[in-house]
Amino acid sequence: MDDCIFCRIARKELPAHIVFENEHVVAFLDIQPSAKGHTLVIPRAHSASILEAECDDMREVCKVVQHITPAILSSLGAQGFNLTVNTGAVAGQVIFHTHWHILPRFEGDGKKMWPHTAYAPGEIEKIAEGIRSHLG
Ligand code: 5GP
Ligand code: ZN
Repeated sequence: MDDCIFCRIARKELPAHIVFENEHVVAFLDIQPSAKGHTLVIPRAHSASILEAECDDMREVCKVVQHITPAILSSLGAQGFNLTVNTGAVAGQVIFHTHWHILPRFEGDGKKMWPHTAYAPGEIEKIAEGIRSHLG
């Protein structure tokens, strides 16, 4: 993917603050962080989203997340993190090269994740059945 920004970062054609890299994966700081230390972890191999990515590559990304996150948290004094993968424009995906966000969380940072809602009576069973039937 000649013009994919994240492929270009992985190939070192564009600058980035890389915190870890190996044969399969590159991890670098997000240029517009939601919190200090906000890190993106990408497979070197291009795929538009996690649904098209090779499972072996996702395994490598997961291994890197487990390796680097303790260092991200301890270096910044964060107490936890959110691991997110935005998929599709409707979900906020802007860069169509598979990437996982490591978002450090700090006591009292005030960030709110998704609000909880409730199902109407009988609705949860229908939705579960709908998903199962689409699996074929
Ligand atoms: P998405 O919204 O697609 O899940 O996340 C894309 C992320 O990539 C955003 O948080 C955005 O700030 C970050 N980003 C976009 N362009 C660049 C860039 O050129 N360099 C770096 N380091 N991050 C980028
Ligand atoms: Zn790419």
